[in-house]
Amino acid sequence: MKAITHWIGGKPWSGTAARTGDVHDPATGEVTGRVDFAERSEVDEAVAAARAAYPEWRDASLARRSSVLFAFRELLSARKDDLAEVITAEHGKVLDDAGGEVQRALEAVEFACGAPALLKGGFSGSASSGVDVHSAPHPLGVVGVISPFNFPAMVPLWFIPNALACGNAVVLKPSEKDPSAAQFLAELFAEAGLPAGVLTVLHGDKVAVDGLLEHPDVAAISFVGSTPVARYVYETGTRAGKRVQALGGAKNHMVVLPDADLDVAADAAVSAGFGSAGERCMAVSAVVAVGPVGDDLVARIAERVARLRVGDGRRGCDMGPLVTAAHRDKVLSYVEADEGAVLAVDGRGHAVDGAEGGFWLGPTLFDHVRPDMRLYRDEIFGPVLSVLRVDTYDEAVALVNANPYGNGAALFTASGAAARRFEADVEVGMVGINVPIPVPVGYYSFGGWKDSLFGDTHAYGPDGLHFFTRPKVVTTRWPTRSTVDLGFPRNT
Ligand code: NAD
Repeated sequence: MKAITHWIGGKPWSGTAARTGDVHDPATGEVTGRVDFAERSEVDEAVAAARAAYPEWRDASLARRSSVLFAFRELLSARKDDLAEVITAEHGKVLDDAGGEVQRALEAVEFACGAPALLKGGFSGSASSGVDVHSAPHPLGVVGVISPFNFPAMVPLWFIPNALACGNAVVLKPSEKDPSAAQFLAELFAEAGLPAGVLTVLHGDKVAVDGLLEHPDVAAISFVGSTPVARYVYETGTRAGKRVQALGGAKNHMVVLPDADLDVAADAAVSAGFGSAGERCMAVSAVVAVGPVGDDLVARIAERVARLRVGDGRRGCDMGPLVTAAHRDKVLSYVEADEGAVLAVDGRGHAVDGAEGGFWLGPTLFDHVRPDMRLYRDEIFGPVLSVLRVDTYDEAVALVNANPYGNGAALFTASGAAARRFEADVEVGMVGINVPIPVPVGYYSFGGWKDSLFGDTHAYGPDGLHFFTRPKVVTTRWPTRSTVDLGFPRNT
């Protein structure tokens, strides 16, 4: 049994936790670890260690900060397979998918390695007679990162590298369901030369989150998780005077126009619907078939789903288990509720290459789903794909835009004009044209609209540097003579 504890002051915490949580191997159902849950006293200890480490890191040169990030990038790249194994063992996603997660995380690290080029500020010589003005981005202080279970390495790394590049100290509160990836990252940062205390990992649940949200020495919070918690984190954190970006849940649509290549569309729907067992915030969960394509598209999707190998992520399967038994049961309840949709593929009968106690549910496909069904309204976050049918492009767009979420949406078409129109019409933060999971590359920023993001700043890339800094504008004069003048200073 693995003991997982906090990382405070550059080393594992040596105290005794009042509460712990079980960590499972989702492919076997076995308890493989026990993670400490922080109480308020541990939150205070963690924030105090970060606060103490902050001044030295704030004053560290850009060269030193980026050399630590470069070293971390090299270590992460060399150890990516090890990290993928850590992810699969607690999350359940297949190894290849976990490797993809690490690769995308590396993009965010690489962007931050080059942050000095973007942290230059501005300078105006002789803005007024004998007066120069310059501006520079300054760090915020101690910042909190609260992450979900579904990307235990990538989501923390959406924020940590940029926060560090900008000179902040970070307290990460990872998901209690798969906490080991965060430990792995903390150890790697220490090996890369990050001074003790600049990165803290605090494990736990709502108690730890509330502690960070209310702590007067935490300046900002980056949160990723479900919409109800994101809303709560945004409201509580901003009420406490913090800068907050809170990314929430999603219901991502894939609209298939009659002129689309249906094989391409079916491949995309299956890949984006069932990759990572549907536990991705950019998973496609609603396919909208426009015009006459519905029957043909559903047949092609069903044919591909039947060929998916479900099983232990270490055995070269296509799709792994769900993260916990409770989550599997919740997803299953949607399959079992008879709301009148047509169950085109029943995942409950899918053959599984894995232990009996694993948290299994095979890929499930519903056809003729209607917008009033819970199947469509809720974010299920599992291997359940719904097909809705509409007659026209306008109906499809109206359906997508009526949904309260606005993370991603994809259009499958052969028409450039339709694609261009979709880009303008659709109310989401990330759009894919014949791309089902349009996660922006690391030098753009990631974020949804509406209930998929609370706050005004997206994650990683340029928005990340904006979030983790505040500007200071300095006006300078070296006078050789002066007079008393009570008028408001004019620029001359
Ligand atoms: P979650 O909301 O249950 O948990 C997220 C974090 O909040 C965890 O660290 C958890 O410990 C903490 N938490 C949980 N309940 C809390 C509460 N009541 N009060 C305070 N803190 C609480 O989310 P999850 O199940 O870990 O992750 C899946 C969700 O995350 C999905 O909704 C998915 O769409 C979303 N997600 C969104 C994005 C995005 O970029 N928009 C990315 C990944 C995941």
